[in-house]
Amino acid sequence: MDMTRLRGIGVSPGIAMGEVLLPRRVVFTSRKELITEAQVLDELKRLHQALDRTRDDLVRVKESIREKMGPESAFIFEAHLLILEDPTLVGGLEAIVRDEKARAEWALSKANTRYEHLFESLSDDYFRQRKSDVSDVLTRVYRNLEARREKEKTPQKEHVLVAHELLPSEAALRLSKELTLAVALDMGGQTSHTAILARSLGIPAVVGLRDITRQVREGEFIIVDGTDGEVIIDPPPAVRREFQAKKAKYETYGRELQKTAKLKSETLDRVRFIPQANIELPEEISLALSMGAEGVGLFRSEFIYLRRESLPTEEDHFEIYARLARGAHPRPVTIRTLDIGGEKSLPQLNIEKEPNPALGLRAVRFSLRNKELFRIQLRAILRASVQKNVRILVPMVTEVDEILDVKDVFEDVKRELRRKGEAFDERIPLGVMLEVPAAAAMADVMLKEVDYVSIGTNDLIQYYLAVDRSNEFVTYLYKPFHPAVLRLIRSVIQAARRAEKDVVVCGEMAADTLAAIVLLGFGLRTFSMNPIFIPRIKKALRSVECRTAERIVEETLKLRSAQEIEEYVVEEILLRHPQVFLTGQPVETSPKK
Ligand code: PEP
Ligand code: MG
Repeated sequence: MDMTRLRGIGVSPGIAMGEVLLPRRVVFTSRKELITEAQVLDELKRLHQALDRTRDDLVRVKESIREKMGPESAFIFEAHLLILEDPTLVGGLEAIVRDEKARAEWALSKANTRYEHLFESLSDDYFRQRKSDVSDVLTRVYRNLEARREKEKTPQKEHVLVAHELLPSEAALRLSKELTLAVALDMGGQTSHTAILARSLGIPAVVGLRDITRQVREGEFIIVDGTDGEVIIDPPPAVRREFQAKKAKYETYGRELQKTAKLKSETLDRVRFIPQANIELPEEISLALSMGAEGVGLFRSEFIYLRRESLPTEEDHFEIYARLARGAHPRPVTIRTLDIGGEKSLPQLNIEKEPNPALGLRAVRFSLRNKELFRIQLRAILRASVQKNVRILVPMVTEVDEILDVKDVFEDVKRELRRKGEAFDERIPLGVMLEVPAAAAMADVMLKEVDYVSIGTNDLIQYYLAVDRSNEFVTYLYKPFHPAVLRLIRSVIQAARRAEKDVVVCGEMAADTLAAIVLLGFGLRTFSMNPIFIPRIKKALRSVECRTAERIVEETLKLRSAQEIEEYVVEEILLRHPQVFLTGQPVETSPKK
């Protein structure tokens, strides 16, 4: 039989191989089965029994996850319980049964399609993927409509789980550290809950494989390479051996890397640097700390809005920020105020579609237009700051007047809290993101008004080079090493150092080995990134002398193009600190299967 290689997105690194397990899929009906007026009450009762059973299931799952993975991960199921108890959702289902005189299956199917369309209309990837949470809850209710459900067998032996889409609760139930060797899915993206759970359990996963469920059979042998995002179905012995060797090498490298979490964050010549984590969900905090994060450099607060259909209250915000602050204490937590609007629009915010969303009413522009929402968020952040480890970060500032406006609102909120006798950190640091090139060029002026700055290279590069960061047709122009980008970043870092204020880089650039060394050479000391990349960056920075990095970057500023710069840095580092590029011990490729 021919081997098949499929490319997807590697969302949880590592390599594993074994036999496929293909669980049965729930398919929502497309048939509207009608009932009589007299049957409506019974059908509503049936729906409610399914809702009750689902609630029991979710509580059980939540408890088992809490035991298996800790309270952070169980949080997803609290969100699911909230979805299940949402009166709009339940009322909507009842209305379909009653008004259309249709079976509950149809009501669930219709509601599911409606939510799918709603979420798919969002252009932001992260939020689009949250549709799986609602789908997850509806799927469970659907299954529970069958009074005597055929219990799915729990697998007894090691397997590679292959599925169309793994809803969060399924992921949490089905993924077992002991038995699940790897996961391969048709659907999914980087920020899905499945990806997050797989990462925290250390199970290699590749998603976005489109039709793997149609390409494999139960019991077939496959290899999943979560590091390179590849799946190989029915590999011949030579390929198995090749991947065994790759796996052994990767694992040795991983063990080496994990050790760095406990090592000091300092360069060969003892210059101290600080790796921090970018997170979107409070439950990521424990993983971040275990990876060696010395605090949270960026908490993207947007997700809070997505976990509920109505606007979050001050208490909703507060609970999450307080949890983060407690989880990270005594390390700092940087909470970024809402970065939404434009492309990341959300239904409950009623933002009008704009012709040019990336340049539109987003982030701080939106917050200053909707001051009451802004005040709610600021109040919650302030109240969570009592342990004095919370910092506020304001995204997408363009000019200094915006900072002054933010500070006016901020001071007013503080006065209000003092009046009410609410405790908060009077000296809570306020920082801005420099991601609009004009603001970065004015860093010295901006710095006079804030306690620290954070360089958002993802947006900074997109705006400076006029290259859409998510458009695959122009990615060839998206170059962190573009000399103009490097000069701008260097000038910001220098301005911050002159002002004796903190500067952080929190864009993806901080997670790139070569770029991190360049940033170190420019004088950067705080690097914030997806926690998974912390060991890699820590190892790279521990393998160089800061002095060398400083000398190299001086030279790069004389070069003309990104390519010249990249080549120069690679050569120089290879010459002086080749261990930066070493990925573990060489491993013998033994012919064992
Ligand atoms: C950035 O722009 O670099 C950044 C960190 O923020 P986001 O990716 O959320 O826009
Ligand atoms: Mg940004």
